[in-house]
Amino acid sequence: MNAAPSRTVRTTCPYCAVQCNFDLHLEQGLVTRATPTRECPVAHGTVCKKGLAALNDLRHPDRLTTPLLRRDGQLVPVGWPEAMAYVRDALGPLVQSTPQRVGVFGSGSLTNEKTYLLGKFARVALRTPHIDYNGRYCMASASAALNRTFGLDRGLGFPLDDLPRSDLIVLVGANIAETLPPVMQYLKAARDRGGAVYAIDPRVTPTVKVAGRHLAPRPGTDGVLALGLLHLMKQWGRIRPTAPAHGLSDVLWHADDYHPARVAHECGVPEAELLALARAYADARTPLILTGRGPEQHTHGTDTVQAWINLAFLTGHVGKQGGGFGTLTGQGNGQGGREHGQKNDQLPGARSLRNPSHRAQMAAHWNVPEHHLPQPGHSAQELLNACGESGEGGLDALIVLGSNPVVSAAGAGQITEKLRALKHLIVIDFLPSETAQLATLVLPGSMWCEEEGTTTNLEGRVQRRRRAMTAPGAAREDWRILCDLAHAVGRPHGFTYPTFRDLQDDFFLATRGGRADYSGLSAERLDRASAQWPVPRADGPDTPLAYAPTYPTPDGLATLHVPRLPAPDLAPRALHLTTGRLSGQYQSGTQTRRNPALKGENAVQIHPDTAHAHGLRAGQSVTLVTAHGQATLPVTLTPGIRPDTLFVPFHWPGAANLLTDPTALDPHSRMPGFKITPVTLRPAPAITANSAPERATPHPTSPALQT
Ligand code: SF4
Repeated sequence: MNAAPSRTVRTTCPYCAVQCNFDLHLEQGLVTRATPTRECPVAHGTVCKKGLAALNDLRHPDRLTTPLLRRDGQLVPVGWPEAMAYVRDALGPLVQSTPQRVGVFGSGSLTNEKTYLLGKFARVALRTPHIDYNGRYCMASASAALNRTFGLDRGLGFPLDDLPRSDLIVLVGANIAETLPPVMQYLKAARDRGGAVYAIDPRVTPTVKVAGRHLAPRPGTDGVLALGLLHLMKQWGRIRPTAPAHGLSDVLWHADDYHPARVAHECGVPEAELLALARAYADARTPLILTGRGPEQHTHGTDTVQAWINLAFLTGHVGKQGGGFGTLTGQGNGQGGREHGQKNDQLPGARSLRNPSHRAQMAAHWNVPEHHLPQPGHSAQELLNACGESGEGGLDALIVLGSNPVVSAAGAGQITEKLRALKHLIVIDFLPSETAQLATLVLPGSMWCEEEGTTTNLEGRVQRRRRAMTAPGAAREDWRILCDLAHAVGRPHGFTYPTFRDLQDDFFLATRGGRADYSGLSAERLDRASAQWPVPRADGPDTPLAYAPTYPTPDGLATLHVPRLPAPDLAPRALHLTTGRLSGQYQSGTQTRRNPALKGENAVQIHPDTAHAHGLRAGQSVTLVTAHGQATLPVTLTPGIRPDTLFVPFHWPGAANLLTDPTALDPHSRMPGFKITPVTLRPAPAITANSAPERATPHPTSPALQT
């Protein structure tokens, strides 16, 4: 037999929302190396260590290569017919009798096509209202604020190439150097052209060091800071709204209360530093505000982001090239993943499940009666909280695709117990995540370069993800698994796609007329060039600038809302836990913790003064105690962090999210409060910093995998 020839396949990275392009070099059917390409429209030939190291996981010894069914407490290998028989017998009757007791949990890392198919599967095959995804834990607050202000949610309304046009970039809780490294080239270009960069962060991060100008407000007070800036812009005569809009005067009156002394006190920053930032903003021609997860992952995240949007809008900068407001999406397809129907209240093309005409459009496209489409169901955290509950709204079964809520959900300890209480937990994944280890059925899926699709990056740019190799063993492409599940539960109608291309064309067409309209796209067009949505016509242009002076709202006007912010905790010795990412890790770490090329320390970062006050030394163990749980971690002394703030990365099980609150949610975005939890410290027996890459650690009471 002839050996497979060497070849090269260009595709996109599996990780973050920059979506760098690589060339994958294959020998005998296997990817042997990846090289960045200068033709990449986003990163221009730069990548980060995570992207290049992603190859290491493709044939990792832990790869799931056969379905696993739980028998006598053990997950044991079975064939696909047996796995689908389980689905038919376990899920089929539930779907027929009580579909609302079945939930679906997706991911912001899924391609657009899988996002679309998962939503269709939930609404058309299962007919359950309860589908949501882990993007709810990422940029949902910015998404909610953009939608309610402009009727549109594209994280960046302009290409990254426009960033250097800005003469002042204000990064609010966005650690770009560690989370989106190639974007730093745009910040540096802005600085090279004479622009300034301010970083607002409770820690001196690598981004702060490059920015050079830093403000470190108390966690949870970013919205107060924005109100203080708006107050000063009003006082200094800098109010010139971008366009006529609803709510302008209410927002301006509300800012009258936020005088500099109050803002400096509540934010815990020197008044002179606040005034310096305000003066820089007032004097800038094209200031740009970019938010990250810092201001967003709060139970008041939507109103915090709103405060920054209000500032940009009222000073006349929204819609300018290189100016205004944007949010830096985090997950690989965090943008497309929030547009095409896996959100609890959403239909493809960023349509609303509550809108009668949107429902009619999608019912017609799917050839089902409109009344078969459910109404909106639980959001992500509520969906997980409902698992195993017997009362109304409770769930007996959950299907998880490419997500690991045992690590990433707020109150992960409580969520783990709820997942255990389910009758059926079906997990589709390519590695045995901590969630897969609790499953009753594990279905082996495909990794990034084992499937075709498209992703949409942080600037709304749609790109092709190309298949380079096949999944190992009996693992299958995820879209085929979803179609098989629909057939197994007895609802095959609409789930027979002869080829992936048929699914992709169905997806593009389904978005026609929606706000996120991709219907002018095709694989051939994307082979010629990436495109920023909306792209409504095959022979028409794409849309680099999304936020024009008129908006897709009923009257074409924006609506500003008065931010409702909680009073900050100003107790003198209060400590606040904040959680976040490390440069070498990604999300719940299912892939990156296994990767020998990637490091990261699962430790708590503490200011030396705070450590000294609690009798702690570097490397010593400390137990963090909150109202929701406790976790013991080694101490890392971090002079650049606020003394009232502790930082714990969220990539490891049994750590950050054991401490966060599973019930308190933002009223608009349904976001838990990952960024601020009151915490106390207790010395603990010595443990070793987990600085080495590790294998997944099964939950202590989880039955072992037999593979
Ligand atoms: Fe690029 Fe993000 Fe992948 Fe790094 S993780 S290579 S920045 S897409």
